[in-house]
Order: sequence, then structure tokens, then C-alpha cells
Amino acid sequence: MGDRKVMKDGDRRLGRRALIVGGTAAAVGTAALAREELAHLWWRLPGVEKPRVEGAVDFRGAHWTAASPANLRRANRPDDYRIDRVVVHVTQGGYRSAVKVFQDPAHGAAAHYIVRANGQVTQMIRELDVAFHAGNRRFNERSVGIEHEGYVERATSFTDAMYAASARLTAGICGRYGIPVDREHIIGHNKVPGTDHTDPGPHWDWDRYLRLVRRERTATAA
Ligand SMILES: [Zn+2]
Repeated sequence: MGDRKVMKDGDRRLGRRALIVGGTAAAVGTAALAREELAHLWWRLPGVEKPRVEGAVDFRGAHWTAASPANLRRANRPDDYRIDRVVVHVTQGGYRSAVKVFQDPAHGAAAHYIVRANGQVTQMIRELDVAFHAGNRRFNERSVGIEHEGYVERATSFTDAMYAASARLTAGICGRYGIPVDREHIIGHNKVPGTDHTDPGPHWDWDRYLRLVRRERTATAA
């Protein structure tokens, strides 16, 4: 978020970007290959989407609390939109108020995750789906948004537990989608084109954060 202004990104429900693959399976040479293709592509048919399990989370240990469907667009990422960015936000408020606004259909914005000062992670939108968090349609489609409980202007908001949990979360996202761990791909909301938001602000320690994310990636890869 970064300020209390309600964000609208003009992101509206679209028809499935699906029909383009209609001819693909038929063109594949062998029956086995065709089956494999179909297994991968069946959900792209109109009216079909990937299975969704109530309460399932993408990050192990996260708590699931659903955002209002008005604050996201259902999608099938990374197959319909490539995910190549993680966007770091600060809520400018406490955890409960962030959950409340993300559940409010009138808010017009929500992130995939909220990380609390105590390191607890809440997932509110599936990574499959496009969350309205960046205020920029293209960046919403290509990114996972992580909110951090606290205030941009308050250095004490950003606790050791928060950095550690958020770094594990971001490392997992980078691993899932092959996102490089660098400042080009892990960005603040303030770096999203066209934004007037300032979060995560000057007290967010990027060097520390990237170091932690890299450490987590290395640990996971080993
Ligand atoms: Zn933000």
C-alpha cells in the first residue's frame, strides 16, 4: 500500500486467454505427446481452470485468509502470465487493518501475502491469480505482492523475524518461477512504473533483505 489512498488499477475481469492454444494438441505428432500436451493444456479450454483447494497455500506455513474476489483477477499464472517480479510493500497500519481492507470489495486492492512483525505469513490471494497491489496492470500480472505490517517512516516496524520470514517467502517465489534474486526483479512498490507510492521506504534494508533471500535460495537448492 504505502498510503491510505484507495487504489484502482483499472484491472477488470477478462475472458480466458485460452483459445489461442486450441490447435496445439492436434498438431503434436504422437498420441503420447498429445496426451502430455493435453494434460498441460486442458485447463486453458474455455470455462476450465486449474483445481483450487480451499485453504491451500503456496508457501508452507502460511495461514490462509481469502481476500475479496473484487480485489483480484482469477488467472492461471504462470501459464497465462509469466511471473518475473516480487513487489515489496508496507501496509501503513497494523496486520488486522490490512486483512480487513483486503477483504473489503470496495477497497480495490490487495496483495498475495502479508508478513507480520512476528514473522507470521498470511496468504490472501493465490499466486495463480492476479492481485491488485501494484497500481499497474502489467506489473500486477507479472508479480507476486508481499505486504509487510508497519509504517514506512518507522524503522522499528521491520523486525528480524519479519525479514527472515519475508526472505524465505521471496526465496520460495523466486525458486518456483525462476526469478533472479536481484534488485531488478525484487522491487519496492515505489519502483513500479507510474506509482506515487513510497513503500517500502528508506528504512527497508535492501542489502540485508537480498542477502537473506540469496541465503535461503542457496539453502533450498542444496
Ligand atoms: Zn504498496
